[in-house]
Amino acid sequence: MSATFHPTDELLVAYGAGSLDEASALLVATHLALCPRCRAEVARIETLGGAMIEDLPPADLGADALASVLARLDLPPSPPKPRRPAVGSPGLPAPLRDYLPAEMEALPWKRLAAGIEQVVLLQARGIRARLLRIGAGIAVPEHGHGGMELTMVLQGGFADQGQGYARGDVAMADRQLVHSPVADRSETCLCLAVTDAPLKLTGLVGLLVNPFLDL
Ligand SMILES: [Zn+2]
Repeated sequence: MSATFHPTDELLVAYGAGSLDEASALLVATHLALCPRCRAEVARIETLGGAMIEDLPPADLGADALASVLARLDLPPSPPKPRRPAVGSPGLPAPLRDYLPAEMEALPWKRLAAGIEQVVLLQARGIRARLLRIGAGIAVPEHGHGGMELTMVLQGGFADQGQGYARGDVAMADRQLVHSPVADRSETCLCLAVTDAPLKLTGLVGLLVNPFLDL
């Protein structure tokens, strides 16, 4: 089944240009592994980028400009390089699987609340990628966001704001959104989440669930 909710065009363009931060690039690469539509879009963006550079008249490029374009072309391609060879975590898209330091069950999962666990995969310049595991039917305590949050479903699904998200779907949240996503009842929901600022708990539950402040 193909994804219904995709990364924004801005994210795909930045990914195609190799200018995304490592955590966001990991999420987009993982989505691309499951989404032919976005793979085609990124290929189109890359072709377009190459054509635009070819179309530039040489007179418009000073020596510095040319050097800077060439330097940009030399940027390492996304996604980030795996830290170690792939380990056995069946069902995970390759870009993410190759990135895990150990098999799923051997990762340092940390309990956040009843039925909710996370493991931080990487954190750089304030942007964090983590795996979230939410038990079947469990609701994440209501929270707002200090910045943007991208959440991609890897297994199972969740409901949020009247929408259903399944494997491959990317949900986006920003400062305006206060929400309480609920995992589908059928199975554990596994997500890859990227945040650029800590989440802010809002409801009464937020006052009671201190570990969640670490989100
Ligand atoms: Zn897509």
